[in-house]
Amino acid sequence: MLEIVSFTLGPVQTNAYLVADSDTKEAAVIDPAWNGHIILAEAQKRGWRIAHLWYTHAHFDHIGGAGAIADALNPLPLVALHPHDHVLWRAGGGGAIFGFDIDPGPEPTIDFYQGQILRLGSVEFEVRFTPGHTPGHCILYVPSSDACFCGDLIFAGSVGRTDLPGGNWEQLVESIKTQVFTLPDETRLFSGHGPESTVGEEKKGNPFVGE
Ligand SMILES: [Zn+2]
Ligand SMILES: [Zn+2]
Repeated sequence: MLEIVSFTLGPVQTNAYLVADSDTKEAAVIDPAWNGHIILAEAQKRGWRIAHLWYTHAHFDHIGGAGAIADALNPLPLVALHPHDHVLWRAGGGGAIFGFDIDPGPEPTIDFYQGQILRLGSVEFEVRFTPGHTPGHCILYVPSSDACFCGDLIFAGSVGRTDLPGGNWEQLVESIKTQVFTLPDETRLFSGHGPESTVGEEKKGNPFVGE
């Protein structure tokens, strides 16, 4: 069964999610935002083994804790990212614009693609390609838990910014409509910033893309 521990970390209050299959104790970090040692300590306390780092996108505030996590693990975790965000990853996640120089951790070796299935023990995560906030943005949907980790695509009552390099407003709206609003209304949305929401609530009430 999927277990989710959330953290809000770093200079722009980014949500990181430590997720695990409670049976096998295999764990992943979705967007290791900042302060990797805090995420690591929580995993160790629970007896979970972090085997994967999954990035919704490569902005610095979503990967800033990766180096500290990887430094403490042997073997290294496998890092997954959509190839369209590799350029951003190599540029330190765009942190220089904001005065941040991060340790990006191990190089991504797993390429996300639309429809890919990731497994943590018996829990399946479906990758959905959702460009707009960045060119390689993806979200991770867990049908068995009615949960979706949606990075900076959509927030409770808001949406991701598209004014940073590679951003595209039309693509963002299209991604939300085709990849988020097609999920069941009760699906819980775990965003990269701010509180949890659901697909139904955002369809009704989101001032940018709601009905
Ligand atoms: Zn972002
Ligand atoms: Zn962000």
